[in-house]
Amino acid sequence: MADAQLPGTFTAPPYDWRYSRVLRPILIFGAVAHAVFLLLFLALDVMPMVAFNIVSTALYITLLNVATRLDSRVFITVAVVEVLLHAWLATRFVGWESGFHLYPLILLPLIAFLTTISLTARFLAIAGVTVAYALIALPYTTATPVAPLPDAVAPWLSAANVVLVSVGLSVFILFYAVAVRNADELARTAHDRLEALAATDPLTGLLNRRSMDEQLRAAIRARQPAAALLVDIDRFKRINDDLGHDTGDLVIQAVAAVLEAGTRDEDAVARWGGEEFLVLLRGHDQEAAWQVSERLRARVPESWSAPPGHQLTVSIGVAALQPGDSANTLISRADTALLQAKRDGRNRTAATT
Ligand code: GH3
Ligand code: MG
Ligand code: MG
Repeated sequence: MADAQLPGTFTAPPYDWRYSRVLRPILIFGAVAHAVFLLLFLALDVMPMVAFNIVSTALYITLLNVATRLDSRVFITVAVVEVLLHAWLATRFVGWESGFHLYPLILLPLIAFLTTISLTARFLAIAGVTVAYALIALPYTTATPVAPLPDAVAPWLSAANVVLVSVGLSVFILFYAVAVRNADELARTAHDRLEALAATDPLTGLLNRRSMDEQLRAAIRARQPAAALLVDIDRFKRINDDLGHDTGDLVIQAVAAVLEAGTRDEDAVARWGGEEFLVLLRGHDQEAAWQVSERLRARVPESWSAPPGHQLTVSIGVAALQPGDSANTLISRADTALLQAKRDGRNRTAATT
């Protein structure tokens, strides 16, 4: 019963789950880009680059198939080697102007967000990639390419590579932003669920004593009329002893349902103790609270089909909030009234005067 009221369900995310979400689009991007380069180099007749792109395309497709099981550190190592090698080879063969030297830029956010390694390790990896990139690519800024691009192709390829690198970076950053938003939502759901768990009684789904204490304090601060009903099941020990603890629990739930159904949204109902409940009625003076009490009490017997020899009734102590009351003094007056109702023979309402 209590569980059904809790918002959503919470499953702990696997380790580094944001990253594994981002890997998929990045790997698809890698596979498609390399397949396109493969065709391009085939058209330009640069066979070493064709061979390299066949291997790279196959590599990205393989990684894609194991992406969910892949250790992100293995992925980043493979990606660093492949991207640097590709940048170096392509720059060497078709020249700096081709724009292939830009691709290692995509490695930087890939490393920066790799949460499976420490921040220091990420910083060192980024520095390492930058130095390696400078060492292997910069000599080719002025070198004559092995297989220079035709004049008609060079500017187009350069522009296309700038666009592709931008797309690659954007894919990573946007997917990461989505993953972060989802993580925030998950955290909020978990927080709400924990808050609901901490505020409710698991057997009845009513407020627990702690959250009723907060409600009482808020009602006192509000300086508006309010009244408390302390409700105790009559001769409950007999029900427990004769019919078992499980039946006792069902009876507690039945009384809880009567109290919940018979009060307004602005009222608060709590399980105050074992078979004792506290109802906070807002805006009610003693007279109005008495009437609510009698109405609730009348509904209790029909909420449970008692076996022969048993009946379900409650006694209720009513106390209206008075100036200068604390939660304790209010409850204590309701408790005195409840004792009076028990003494007077049970199955009745009593109020403090
Ligand atoms: P009275 O009319 O004077 O209130 O008599 P009573 O038998 O109800 O007396 P009392 O309040 O002392 O009995 C409370 C019993 O409630 C004792 C305890 O074993 C039982 N109880 C407390 N919590 C639970 C619970 O969660 N489930 C069940 N089944 N029984 C509980
Ligand atoms: Mg009792
Ligand atoms: Mg009791």
